[in-house]
This record gives sequence, C-alpha cells and structure tokens, in this order.
Amino acid sequence: MSNNSIISVCGVTKRFGDNLILDNVSLKIDRGEFVTILGPSGCGKTTLLRIIAGFLDVNQGEVKLEGKDLLSIPPHKRPVNTVFQKYALFPHLNVYDNIAFGLKIKRVDGDTIDREVARVLKMTGLSDYEHRDIDSLSGGQQQRVAIARAIVNKPKVLLLDEPLAALDLKMRKDMQMELKQMHRDLGITFIYVTHDQEEALTLSDTIVVMNNGVIQQIGSPTDIYNEPVNSFVADFIGESNIFNGVMLCDKRVKFIDLEFDCVDEGFGDNVLVDVVLRPEDIYIFPANKSAMFSGKVISSIFKGVHNEMVVKTENGFEVVVQDYNHFGVGEEVGLLIKPNDIHVMRKERVCNTF
Ligand code: ATP
Repeated sequence: MSNNSIISVCGVTKRFGDNLILDNVSLKIDRGEFVTILGPSGCGKTTLLRIIAGFLDVNQGEVKLEGKDLLSIPPHKRPVNTVFQKYALFPHLNVYDNIAFGLKIKRVDGDTIDREVARVLKMTGLSDYEHRDIDSLSGGQQQRVAIARAIVNKPKVLLLDEPLAALDLKMRKDMQMELKQMHRDLGITFIYVTHDQEEALTLSDTIVVMNNGVIQQIGSPTDIYNEPVNSFVADFIGESNIFNGVMLCDKRVKFIDLEFDCVDEGFGDNVLVDVVLRPEDIYIFPANKSAMFSGKVISSIFKGVHNEMVVKTENGFEVVVQDYNHFGVGEEVGLLIKPNDIHVMRKERVCNTF
C-alpha cells in the first residue's frame, strides 16, 4: 500500500485469558478508503475494530493514526467514531438530541450545533425527523441516526461494526447504496466489519479477509474473488469446489484422476495443494467425449439468474456447477474447465505482512 496511509496496525496480538484472538495482525489503511474486515463469526473482526476505537488494549503491537501512536490516546479523544450494530441510541432523547449529544458534551456553541446537526440530518435523509422520538423510527431510520451521530463531529475514521445486520434484506441493500454514497460525500476513511461476503464485495475498495485471528488476504474485491490466496478465502468468498491435489512436478498438478499444467506460481514437486474450481467457470453440456469429467446431475436448483447443479462424476466426486442452461436431475452431462480457471493453492498460507 502507498504512503497515503492513515491507519497502520503493526504486529497486534490480543489474548482474552489463554485464547489468542488476534495473532500478530498487521495492516495499512489508506486515507479515504472504504476497507472491510471480513471473516466468519468469532475470527476477531470486532476485537480489531474495538482496539482501533480504544475500547480494548493490546497485548503486543502498535496502532498508529497519521504516523502517531493511537493506543496511548483515550477513546473519546481519538479522531475516530464507531457505529454499532445495536444502534446504541438514547431512547429518551429525540433525533436532534441524540445527534447533538457529543457536541453538547464538548460545549460547542448552539448555533454551530444547529448547523452541524442540520448538515448530517440532510446527508442521512432525516431532515424531516429531527423532533421524532427514537422509538417511533424504523430500524433503518434508527441506523441512520446512529450514523448521523457518529459523523457529526467529523471523525477522520468511521468504524462500522456490522451496522446493517439487524435490517431486512431490502432495507439492507438500500442502506448499502446510501453508505457508499455517504462515504463518497464525506471523503473520510470507513473501516467496516461484516461476515457477509456479498456486502463486502459490494461496498469495499479493499477487503481484509480474516480467519482465526490471522489476516488471510488483503486486496480489492476483484483480486480477492479472482485470485484467492488459499482455499479458505476461495471458499469464504463465493462458492468453490475444492479438491486435494498434488504437484507432480513444478507446474503440473494432479487432482481426481486428471493431470494439468497449471498457470499458477511454481510449487515444487510432490507438494500437496488445494485445487479450486469456481462453479461459474465450469462448462456443462450433454455428455460427449470432449468432457473432462462425465457424470450425472444429482441436484438442480433454479436460482433466479442461473441454475445451480451438483454433478456426481463417474469417479465419485461431487462438483457444483452454475450455468444459465438447465440440466435436470438424472441427466448425463459432461464438464469442462479451462486450465486458466484451475486455481492451485498451497494448503496453508497466510499473510501477516504488508
Ligand atoms: P462476530 O462476527 O460474531 O461478531 P467477530 O469476528 O467480530 O465475530 P470478536 O467479537 O472479535 O469476533 O470475538 C473474537 C473472539 O474473542 C470470540 O471467540 C469471542 O468470544 C472472544 N471475545 C471477544 N470479546 C471477549 C471478551 N471481552 N472476553 C473474552 N472473550 C472475548
């Protein structure tokens, strides 16, 4: 990443008791970026966010903001603000007072508070709601109040911890678009935590994929999707078929009963690898001799845009295929995949450096 970084996390380790929650995590985040920390439940995403926010300390490592140590600054003095999943609004205060709360504590003058609250109400589409009670708002509107409250004192970095998790699917999609627009309008850095792959792909400039307290991969949504560095990332981002393989020689891989020259980096002889095939990269057609695998469809589901079919190959493997063409259960089919779309990856690989 470039010198334009605003936050740098370096070698951060966090334990709760004997449990290692973050294992030597390092990460640089650029100014103005929309960065998403993505990973399964319990992998340490919120812990990392809470460390940046100042709600948790570290066992080891550094966090810097614009090159200056952040960990020694108390949470309320850090130029960051957090939007939580459970909005954490004050139920006895109306919309205006919820948003104005932090500014009043800082003894900002009344005119400035009015002006700033009006600015963020407009930005979050809440201009007509300033006198409403919190309880009278929908979940989506409450979330907007939480965002308005977090951006009113112009933080340099906005931390968002699964802010849309409590919303229904339609509201979630609408709010995703609004968040993206707000990010553009505000021009500040967003660090967003989610376990939802699609949300991460939709929103982010950069995705940080975590598992078990270790960063697995950092990259753009297209990099992460098209070039996953290991089978965890491949499986977590989009659906994948993952087979055990072995390198016969430097660039030739064997998996199932097949041998291929692979285009990925050299691995060395006899190295055990994961071979990843994306369901949408596999061609499916009526059985014929040109097939790489022959088999029978054992499940076929219409998914709206495409069909998702599971094919049991003659040698007993199950392969998930997505295609616009439909093949029904019991049909004999052939499968083909281009060598470029066969992703070979080392079994264990993590990235803890930048
Ligand atoms: P989710 O998506 O479910 O929120 P996450 O990736 O954000 O998960 P964290 O909340 O960071 O995960 O938690 C990581 C691990 O640390 C979990 O196993 C959790 O139980 C544990 N943990 C978090 N906070 C504490 C705490 N205060 N004391 C002890 N263990 C904790």
